[in-house]
Amino acid sequence: NSKRAYNFNAGPAALPLVVLEKAQAELLDFNGTGMSVMELSHRGKDYEAVHNRAIELLRELMAIPQDYEVLFLQGGASLQFSMVPMNFLAAGKKAGYVMTGSWSEKAYAEAAKLGEVFVAATAKEGNYRRIPAWEEISYGADSAYLHITSNNTIFGTEWQAFPDTGAVPLVADMSSDILSKPFAVKKFALIYAGAQKNLGPSGVTVVIIRRDFLEQANKNLPTMLCYATHAKNNSMYNTPPTFGIYMMKLMLEWVKAEGGVPAIYKRNREKAALIYDAIDASNGFYVGHAQPEARSLMNITFRLAEEELEKKFLDQAKKTGFVGLNGHRSVGGCRASSYNAVPYESCQALRDFMLAFQKENA
Ligand code: PMP
Repeated sequence: NSKRAYNFNAGPAALPLVVLEKAQAELLDFNGTGMSVMELSHRGKDYEAVHNRAIELLRELMAIPQDYEVLFLQGGASLQFSMVPMNFLAAGKKAGYVMTGSWSEKAYAEAAKLGEVFVAATAKEGNYRRIPAWEEISYGADSAYLHITSNNTIFGTEWQAFPDTGAVPLVADMSSDILSKPFAVKKFALIYAGAQKNLGPSGVTVVIIRRDFLEQANKNLPTMLCYATHAKNNSMYNTPPTFGIYMMKLMLEWVKAEGGVPAIYKRNREKAALIYDAIDASNGFYVGHAQPEARSLMNITFRLAEEELEKKFLDQAKKTGFVGLNGHRSVGGCRASSYNAVPYESCQALRDFMLAFQKENA
């Protein structure tokens, strides 16, 4: 489809063309019901099958162990910044936060309103170019939990391996790299992610939570804010975001058809390499923000040597059909978000554009 943009948006982001076409084909008559998924009762068997299949696929693709619950919530990852401490930061306990960017800061600030928090490590110095080494992370053995942001959407850094926190529950905001690479879920007590980068449209938040951790949660909270409410009711305590979950199911089917997470990961590495190689071979024309060993496969952040030139680059990229290349308003520069559904061809086109632009302007 020649009208499809080179979409490098940071989220909501590109969805696979085949997923959109499937949704389009089923829009007026889903499964012989004579309605769209949006019009189905969430208590009916047609929707329920979609809902359960989405959970099953996520379990399969991420190899989520049986002793974990998979929840579909609303309120975005931002509500998780509050729900995590509400449920798990008991009085007299402290929770540690590893600061790797703006989203870690937001998570920390929300938790600080609700209980005692501390900075377990920070990469703020130098404007979040790196991920702290495990040895830098310090927390008491009796900490309520340790919170990390696995991929820093704004700064373009990503944890390359996850720390082993032993008895201290590890909690991760994986909003911008969930399902992009294989990793062991069992290292984590709780994982949360807004869907609008790698999982589908906005409106759904995935929470993966170990059952024994869930059992320790504060039971004295408003019903909707208890993880246990949603776990007990298969994420149907109230009306779930049915269409978003349906889109997620289509997206997960697509990941499976592409060869699962290992195949997606391989392609993500190849996609990111196209752009990082262009940066590294540019003799300083393009300057990457992240330290090479902390580079994100999902959000590639870079600058041009002069501000005027950077403006020209972004202007010209826009005219050429690239969408979403402006860096986050808080840091400026350029950012290419190459989530799972961004085609290899889009990254190739961006690489070619970067090389040509450098040739003309160096
Ligand atoms: N955490 C990270 C790492 C993010 O990238 C984002 C959104 N860009 C959020 C949290 C906030 O997510 P939401 O908008 O779903 O609340």
